[in-house]
Amino acid sequence: MTERLFLKQNEVSDFDSYKFPALKRALDMDKKDIIEELKKSGLRGRGGAGFPTGLKWELALKEKAGEKYIICNGDEGEPGTFKDRYLLENSPLKVLEGILIGAYTIGAHQGYIYIRGEYALPINIFRQVIKEAKKRGILGNRVMGSDYSFDLKLIKGAGAYVCGDETSLINSIEGKRGTSRIKPPYPTRQGLFNKPTVVNNVETLAAAAEIILQGADKYGSMGTEQSRGTKLVCLSGDICNPGVYEVEFGTMTIKELIDTFGGGVKCSSGLKFVIPGGISTSVLKDDELDIPYTYEDIEKKGSSLGSGAVVVVSEDHYLPDLMLNVSRFFMDETCGTCFPCREGNRRVHLLLKNKISDGRFDRDEKKLISDIGRAIHLAARCGLGQTSLNFVTSVLNKFEDELMVGRD
Ligand code: NAD
Repeated sequence: MTERLFLKQNEVSDFDSYKFPALKRALDMDKKDIIEELKKSGLRGRGGAGFPTGLKWELALKEKAGEKYIICNGDEGEPGTFKDRYLLENSPLKVLEGILIGAYTIGAHQGYIYIRGEYALPINIFRQVIKEAKKRGILGNRVMGSDYSFDLKLIKGAGAYVCGDETSLINSIEGKRGTSRIKPPYPTRQGLFNKPTVVNNVETLAAAAEIILQGADKYGSMGTEQSRGTKLVCLSGDICNPGVYEVEFGTMTIKELIDTFGGGVKCSSGLKFVIPGGISTSVLKDDELDIPYTYEDIEKKGSSLGSGAVVVVSEDHYLPDLMLNVSRFFMDETCGTCFPCREGNRRVHLLLKNKISDGRFDRDEKKLISDIGRAIHLAARCGLGQTSLNFVTSVLNKFEDELMVGRD
């Protein structure tokens, strides 16, 4: 079940009923006005980092290079995140509209939508959408009868988490191995084929189309000063009603999200902790969940809203098992380019593996894990690497009583 506040239209994949109203409006607008509208709305990137979308588009628009690109990042790899899949399956035309508006605004005539290989249905849907859009003059020469031309290619990912990182994704589209690039330069200056490129998440682009349609004032009036509008939240884990829900920022606490939308914790043992933004974010304990669901309130607790994946974990689990499981994921998925991430994740994984039977850590082991976590955070090349030990270090810190030797 999905609650809809903002993305609430009859979300369609039907070209006969969907008339691309936001695109129509955008094509009549000055590019700078589109950017002003986005800035006024306060829209922040919904992939996880929350960078202001209007500013990103503005930086790309200002670049003088003739060729520019837009990429829709649908390589949704963060475990617990499945909201982009929801949009690609249920509102593909809204996503397409957002891509076209972004492309038109920055002056790109070629774009890519990169969808993770595991998403067979969204890939099929989008393939059809592109074909039909070309037939109907939504893609190609003279988009909707205007002077603007734009072509879109679908790229199917090959199952690498790291390709969700925008620079790895760019390498992958260029036919190279999916490894991260050092930033800066940011893609808005030097992205795909070294040309200015905007990479936006699926949800961001769908929201941008809504903003152009309904106006920045309406969107900006929702939420809080730093977290405006709405967010698609993916509830999963030990919860009665897992699913994708849309919530206006600041109107519910994390606890209320779990109890109201999610129907509460599934297991009688009760709630142990919540991962508030996907497994690359630090966990929050039961007594930290009475906070409004906003970027700023979650950051104040030392974690991050991330991609919107709220994973509920009950008391039924053995903590060292969870830590080992998450660390195996990051060890397997590191692209191997930068030393801190590659070696750090491997080292922590081996340590956790040795601890799995007694599940107790001594001070030196805890220090080693936290030192490696700090080193990775400071020195890994990409955001995916930098956040890879957040889960393990936060569990170790917050459940010290259970996990440390001599603490009984
Ligand atoms: P980032 O902060 O480096 O960048 C965020 C975006 O802003 C990028 O597009 C970047 O190019 C742009 N940007 C930042 N500073 C800029 C500047 N000065 N000029 C121009 N552009 C600028 O973060 P990131 O590494 O892209 O992403 C990390 C996040 O990804 C994590 O917080 C995590 O939550 C999230 N994540 C999401 C998924 C998923 O499946 N959705 C998976 C893994 C991680």
